Amino acid sequence: MKICLNPGHGGDADQRGFKRGPTGVREAEMNLRVAQYLRDFLVASGADVKLTRDDDVFLSYEQRAEIAGNWGADLFVSLHHNAIDGKPEVNYTTVWYHGEVGYRPGNLDLARFLCDGLYDALALPRITDVPLKSDLLMRKTGFAVLRSATVTAALCESSFFTNPEEEQRLRQPEYNLREAHGLFIGLAKYVAAGLPRAVIVEPADGVFVRRHDHAVDRGDWIDSENTLSASVSRLVLAFELDDGLRCRKAWGHERNMIIANTIAVHVDGRALPHRFKDDGQRYLLTVDLPDDILSGDHSVELQFQNMNKNSVLNPLFKISVR
Ligand SMILES: [Zn+2]
Repeated sequence: MKICLNPGHGGDADQRGFKRGPTGVREAEMNLRVAQYLRDFLVASGADVKLTRDDDVFLSYEQRAEIAGNWGADLFVSLHHNAIDGKPEVNYTTVWYHGEVGYRPGNLDLARFLCDGLYDALALPRITDVPLKSDLLMRKTGFAVLRSATVTAALCESSFFTNPEEEQRLRQPEYNLREAHGLFIGLAKYVAAGLPRAVIVEPADGVFVRRHDHAVDRGDWIDSENTLSASVSRLVLAFELDDGLRCRKAWGHERNMIIANTIAVHVDGRALPHRFKDDGQRYLLTVDLPDDILSGDHSVELQFQNMNKNSVLNPLFKISVR
């Protein structure tokens, strides 16, 4: 696993009162301590971890998302603590996802597991009725850091540093360690439930070359039912799916662990029918591209859930028709 942790803020100590609790504890510092402890837990369990900042420096929201994307992170987790003016009693956990609820189902999985981990670790006396929140509630186009994220992403607001008692807890490394452990357990449970992935296997480079005399070549593993008459030039896109579980070879690993009716393929936003096949070794998904598909680049979104209801990590693909 490659996990990019993004401690919020930094490089802002000279700004009077900026993101500080009632006695002046800085959010940027608590965010960084939590990120460093969380990194230690993750590295000890075998993950590759990158922090967007490991020091008290300024980075733009876009730069932070870019660090995760360029590195090829599987997950991008932003770590924050919350603030509210004039309501010192407020203190609860929220975890934020980008956009509309269906934008990237994988983001909701990540957010939910992080939230559960924080609930168990911090055990704040109050919970909010809907702890997973869309960033559209705060800003018209959402949070820049989540909007810019190209990989599975969520943003934690673990507790409120404007609550005087919570501020005093958040200045203590032991409390930051406890929060980091909660986030670690949340991530560990998420990974244990299997992280689904997909790759395009046909055409391997994602590039179709149109042929008008007969059907495009395909690998032998595609069913004979997919073989088309020589007069039709149909473009067939094929994916190999990974449920994130079978690779462990546990008892029953040959059984299907993908919920077939959660599979959805959209090309340029248009839903297309698909065929799903599991031979006990691998999962194959084939999609006929529409006959009227234009030459050029096209975007493909593939969604599915494994038996633990985890959605595919990175659902976007590019194909090209020539
Ligand atoms: Zn913040």
